[in-house]
Amino acid sequence: MDLTTLERLPLWIGGRAVAAHTTRYAEVTNPATGEVLRHVPLSDATDVDAAAAAASVALPAWRAAPALRRARILMRFRDLMEAHKTDLARLVSQEHGKTISDAEGSITRGIEVVEFATGIPHLLKGDFSDNVGTGVDSFSLRQPVGICAGITPFNFPAMVPMWMFPVALACGNAFILKPSERDPTMSLRMAELLAEAGLPDGVFNVVHGDKEAVDAILAHPSIKAVSFVGSTPIARYIYETGSRHGKRVQALGGAKNHAVVMPDADIAFAAEALIGAAYGSAGERCMAVSVAVAVGDAGDPLRDKLAERARRIAVGPGDRKDSEMGPVITCAARDRIVGLIARGVDEGATLVVDGRGARVHGHENGFFVGPTLFDQVTREMAIYREEIFGPVLAIVRAESLDAAIELINANPYANGAALFTRSGFAARKFQQDVEVGMIGVNVPIPVPMAFYSFGGWRNSLFGDLHVHGMDGVRFYTRGKAVTARWPDDGSAAPGFHMPTMG
Ligand code: NAD
Repeated sequence: MDLTTLERLPLWIGGRAVAAHTTRYAEVTNPATGEVLRHVPLSDATDVDAAAAAASVALPAWRAAPALRRARILMRFRDLMEAHKTDLARLVSQEHGKTISDAEGSITRGIEVVEFATGIPHLLKGDFSDNVGTGVDSFSLRQPVGICAGITPFNFPAMVPMWMFPVALACGNAFILKPSERDPTMSLRMAELLAEAGLPDGVFNVVHGDKEAVDAILAHPSIKAVSFVGSTPIARYIYETGSRHGKRVQALGGAKNHAVVMPDADIAFAAEALIGAAYGSAGERCMAVSVAVAVGDAGDPLRDKLAERARRIAVGPGDRKDSEMGPVITCAARDRIVGLIARGVDEGATLVVDGRGARVHGHENGFFVGPTLFDQVTREMAIYREEIFGPVLAIVRAESLDAAIELINANPYANGAALFTRSGFAARKFQQDVEVGMIGVNVPIPVPMAFYSFGGWRNSLFGDLHVHGMDGVRFYTRGKAVTARWPDDGSAAPGFHMPTMG
């Protein structure tokens, strides 16, 4: 059955599509046209309970399956995602608004995590020490946590869930995904493809919804770990509430990513890189560059190049071939972004390119905001302090690299930061001294590959471990150390004293 044709989306529980128990539904809109595409159930505690029950039934056999068998299912899932990539990208674009090529790229980045997870037999290998005492051996195991949940944002409906569930499943956990209610359909397609790949029923489940479903997840006694990606206030809430319920939590929050451009940089190259990083996906990326810090003489030429290129960006629906930038996610998001642009003007920033009047012929009801560029932005202004999450780039002037680093380290967000320079000395200083989770050197969006871990510092991540890479394996497993002896004559019987080895 093609679930994308349904007017009311189902949940995915126990290996099949099921109607939700809740009677609350929300609209899913096409941001390029404003039309309602379908409705998504806003699950209640009964729905979450059903998903947890299905996961509990499936868990014992799944965790007992050899890691290689689990990996082979993920290999088939990887191939299915690849085979359907174009259709999946269309679906992402339809509900999110980003261009189809951008959506395809994000699916590829998600598939890379699946590829990483297929190495799980190697990644789960423990340590072994023989003869730690006479005739005593020690070794370590990593075992699954149990039922894990993922709560994900609207901006990457395929990639962000794929930061989580491939690693969780490979490690032997069952998983409940609560995707964003704004673009929920992709999660059901991935559930179908996992089933087609041979994943046993109940190992992967989808509940849709909003705060009610999230709260039910956070309080559910069977759910042992929660991965969250979204805005900072909700990330903090998830971390605190989940921890209070005794769960392991990683909660990735919002961002305000700075790119520093040094006077010695190739300004044309830096400007072109910043255009993609600031305006790609309409600025709705957690690693989007929203602040360009121009050091010394870099300021004026950088501003001129950015302005010239920003004015030429083709704004249009994501499914139009020549579109470089689509709409933002909702009407409310557009109004918020437009309001912040007005605030920037009121607070004295120089508006170099104004995207407020963007109109797309034939898409008059779409939620479009054009590329917007500010200069002379200061750290007190709302457009500097707030995460705008739209196509707005703010240029801040700085006297030196030290001043730029100080600015970055004083910001409450700390997801990514980039430096454009030809100086190895400046690059090394930047990567050493900037207190941010992911650093780019002449790379504007330094999203780590799947075999490294992704995550920020300060208000951009609550918890101890980042996602995917080895941090992901650690998050979805618990360590166990085994100490064993096999005496055959009873001569090494333990006594009453504190046991020592040697
Ligand atoms: P959001 O915080 O509004 O929603 C994220 C998830 O939380 C959704 O599943 C949503 O249903 C749920 N949620 C929303 N309000 C809730 C509430 N009051 N209680 C419980 N759950 C709630 O975020 P969004 O608007 O979907 O996504 C954009 C945000 O995500 C931006 O701030 C962006 O920076 C951030 N983000 C961060 C990363 C990262 O890696 N750090 C990656 C992607 C997106």
